[in-house]
Amino acid sequence: SSLYRIDGWGAPYFTANSSGNISVRPHGSETLPHQDIDLLKIVKKVTDPKSSGGLGLQLPLIVRFPDVLKNRLECLQSAFEFAIQSQGYGSHYQGVYPVKCNQDRFVVEDIVKFGSSFRFGLEAGSKPEILLAMSCLCKGNPDAFLVCNGFKDAEYVSLALLGRKLALNTMIVLEQEEELDLVIELSQKMNVRPVIGLRAKLRTKHSGHFGSTSGEKGKFGLTTTQILRVVSKLSQAGMLDCLQLLHFHIGSQIPSTSLLSDGVAEAAQLYCELVRLGAHMKVIDIGGGLGIDYDGSKSGDSDLSVAYSLEEYAEAVVASVRFVCDRRSVKHPVICSESGRAIVSHHSVLIFEAVSAAKPTGHHQVTPNDIQFLLEGDEEARANYEDLYAAVMRGDQERCLLYVDQLKQRCVEGFKEGVLSIEQLASVDGLCEWVLKAIGASDTVHTYNINLSVFTSIPDLWGIDQLFPIVPIHKLDQRPGTRAILSDLTCDSDGKINKFIGGESSLPLHELDNNGSGGRYFLGMFLGGAYEEALGGVHNLFGGPSVVRVSQSDGPHSFAVTRAVPGQSSADVLRAVQHEPELMFQTLKHRAEEMMHTKGSSDEDEEEEDDDEFNNVAAYLDRSFHNMPYLAT
Ligand code: PLP
Repeated sequence: SSLYRIDGWGAPYFTANSSGNISVRPHGSETLPHQDIDLLKIVKKVTDPKSSGGLGLQLPLIVRFPDVLKNRLECLQSAFEFAIQSQGYGSHYQGVYPVKCNQDRFVVEDIVKFGSSFRFGLEAGSKPEILLAMSCLCKGNPDAFLVCNGFKDAEYVSLALLGRKLALNTMIVLEQEEELDLVIELSQKMNVRPVIGLRAKLRTKHSGHFGSTSGEKGKFGLTTTQILRVVSKLSQAGMLDCLQLLHFHIGSQIPSTSLLSDGVAEAAQLYCELVRLGAHMKVIDIGGGLGIDYDGSKSGDSDLSVAYSLEEYAEAVVASVRFVCDRRSVKHPVICSESGRAIVSHHSVLIFEAVSAAKPTGHHQVTPNDIQFLLEGDEEARANYEDLYAAVMRGDQERCLLYVDQLKQRCVEGFKEGVLSIEQLASVDGLCEWVLKAIGASDTVHTYNINLSVFTSIPDLWGIDQLFPIVPIHKLDQRPGTRAILSDLTCDSDGKINKFIGGESSLPLHELDNNGSGGRYFLGMFLGGAYEEALGGVHNLFGGPSVVRVSQSDGPHSFAVTRAVPGQSSADVLRAVQHEPELMFQTLKHRAEEMMHTKGSSDEDEEEEDDDEFNNVAAYLDRSFHNMPYLAT
């Protein structure tokens, strides 16, 4: 397991067990040994239709662990509570979860439920998100914040104001100056006293990929001039007491606590200035950015890692706010954060299967006879061949590589001119492969075909080159015999994975056992619970995977599947692009009927056969619409 650095990125939730499988420790460091859940057992149970209680779900599969979600929330809360207590901070921490990170109903409902005792709330950034946040928070703690970010029109602002009428703690955060006019006008019209926040554009800039949102040229937030105009407008409208929250977000994956402290301190100064200007400030909302150590290096030297723990993050935030407020004699504000990645990344694992391997040495053995033509035909090809032969004899690697290239190039030209046959070209390829192998320069990396769409399930890998830990979920007690890159099902050359954590261009993997013995090979992608599901598309019409929810239980298996939803069927994805699968089925069925009954047979037996064939075809078509688009394995 050290090969895959599981203890680095996986702790405290994932580890390799004595059977060589990945174990999930759903309560993190609080998990007792008998509560460990073997991931392979879950996969076997939910995919096998024959085992007792088997569900027969198709892969790919997302396995969600609500216990992990609960543990993440509680760890975040206690990290802040500890920092607050140990530093004598005069207020409390009250976080919100940005639903955009994973809007799945059960994820959001779980967070509201698990966080209710400590007033944990939600953040929304669009109209459907505010609708879902409002309805979920009806079951939550009435003091929980509902932070309303994002671009707002009259409808969005009205919804947020309506929230206050429903006794939900909505806070309208101004991201654009123009939004203030809407808030003033609509709150008067609806007779609601709003709670207003503003998002500040900080000067502190985070230089990684995720930092483009920060700095003076960032996409969001108000400049100092705009903030002053907002204060003056609110004052004129007699609403300065409504301004209670200052928000900023310097970008996701903040690499170090020094950058964090810098940003928080700048924002705390702004907060104190707003207090001085007469706003009734209560909350400082430090946005997201609490990072995940995807590569387990804890180095903070790339977008893949962060050099701090949850505890160190909380400590730095509390210390910075306290220091600035104490110097300015300002009452300590409630600290709110909008951590998404840090809350949901660990809670789900994407399981997929490697179904076949393309061998790097796919050429046939060549005999001297096969390449005799090289000595007989084209002068140039003959010269190339002789040079190559001499270089092999001398053991001159560098020349061999050069002559292999030249010979291939010449023979491809010969083929294009019609001088060489396909068999002759294949023999040249075989010869070159043999030479490369003999001098130890052949490509030994396999391509494993995976039953997955990168575009649907790991969109950030394609879109922003983000890497996630990918590991076989079994056989970890056996040394991998080969290395491979992964190639997905889509007809798109970007649908491949050839970069892995640790800077590797291939992954050590076990050989596939495709000899009919039923040895399947399951891989897991970890730490993808944030953003990946929310951003995935249906390129090539590969839809969403199956999803199961698994809780730790004290029963014989140490786990219980509490919910299972099959992935999107071909009909589902077709519907998403405006096709009508029911009509399509009828069209195809009608065609089958015409084709199968046109033989005009008068023979009763033959007619029965036609009927059978038609029924089989119709049933087959029906199944194809209802199955998932992935390979059936
Ligand atoms: N808040 C805002 C305004 C954001 O834009 C984001 C994400 O980019 C977040 C919170 C969540 O950030 P993270 O996932 O880094 O916690």
